[in-house]
Amino acid sequence: MNILVINAGSSSLKYQLINMDNEEVIAKGLCERIGIDGHLKHTPMNGKPVFESDLSFPTHAEAITAVLEKLTSDEYGVVSSMDEIGAVGHRVVHGGMEFTKSALIDDECIAAIERCIPFGPLHNPANLIGIRACQKIMPKTPQVAVFDTAFHMTMPPKAYTYAIPYEYYEKDGIRRYGFHGTSHNFVSSRALEMLGKGPEGTKIIVCHLGNGSSLSAVKDGKCIDTTMGLTPLAGVPMGTRSGDIDPSILEFIMNKYGYSASEMLNILNKKSGVLGLSGVSSDFRDLDDAADKGNERARLALDKFAYEVKKFIGAYAAAMGGVDAICFTAGVGENSASMRESIVEGLEYLGAKIDPEKNKVRGKDAIVSTDDSKVKIMVIPTNEELMIARDTLSLVK
Ligand code: AMP
Repeated sequence: MNILVINAGSSSLKYQLINMDNEEVIAKGLCERIGIDGHLKHTPMNGKPVFESDLSFPTHAEAITAVLEKLTSDEYGVVSSMDEIGAVGHRVVHGGMEFTKSALIDDECIAAIERCIPFGPLHNPANLIGIRACQKIMPKTPQVAVFDTAFHMTMPPKAYTYAIPYEYYEKDGIRRYGFHGTSHNFVSSRALEMLGKGPEGTKIIVCHLGNGSSLSAVKDGKCIDTTMGLTPLAGVPMGTRSGDIDPSILEFIMNKYGYSASEMLNILNKKSGVLGLSGVSSDFRDLDDAADKGNERARLALDKFAYEVKKFIGAYAAAMGGVDAICFTAGVGENSASMRESIVEGLEYLGAKIDPEKNKVRGKDAIVSTDDSKVKIMVIPTNEELMIARDTLSLVK
């Protein structure tokens, strides 16, 4: 069965068509500037030419119509008709407490995703637009929602509650949810495969380090803690997000500079993290270049990032009573040997020792610890689209 995976943002839509017989991507692409003007890049993987052009996308419906037209066209297509698309899997960012796993989309599912909008005000409405557009254009094709939060719903109360008055949890659902769950799920499962182990008795720390970053502690195959919180702003510093800070800093800055709550949050989401600290860039490659040329704040930003990730590794080893594998994934985790080395440096007391030669690897599955390292250090490229397609297949089968 071919499964279309859709990741709809407010003005963009990423897609992959995956043949689930061999889990190969047969086409992928990106619609941009939806609601503004419109642009589509469509890449068939069967040797046919790439299509790239400005198109008119007043709404997501026109974008999805254009994607389906390209997927089935003589010149750029990979299937002969829409009937060869067996199901659609949608990435949905916030599933709140409504969803502990992926769900077949029906009216009740859509209503539950709508109830989660207050927690994901930027993402969930865009995800819903993508779902509704597909329902309109492919009314007979089953659709599945796969949530960024769902993998983390196995956390125990001591991990997911905040130490604020309990009524905010009870009445308003204020708690840690965590994000990147599809990636943490994929990478921890792949780690078990690579280690040749079943989930029972295993302790894995996944470090998803990209523009957004989060760590998770996965014990017996289940998430028991993660760094992001009610929203993706919490945890380690990121490209532009602050990660955890003393909440009183907000009042101090807001009073001194007269900022509203949303202005303050915009600073914490868009102007902080390694960008705010370095004043150079949110991109880790730019920071590496600047630090190599002697820029001290770029060096500080990289050091701060590595330090905070290292602290959470220690915390999660403590939470699980040990660790068998530390896995690195996403843009920085998969590609930056120097960042992996800085993070793991000094963790020999835990039994984690990196092999500098093996650690030169980029973007492919590898074990990069020394042969005598008790803790396996692993590089595992994430594949959220494939995870979404697998969940979709299991629900529509
Ligand atoms: P992601 O959000 O997973 O796409 O990751 C994006 C981040 O990965 C950006 O900050 C990139 O600079 C970073 N990145 C990609 N390749 C490298 C590399 N070779 N070295 C350091 N950072 C990298």
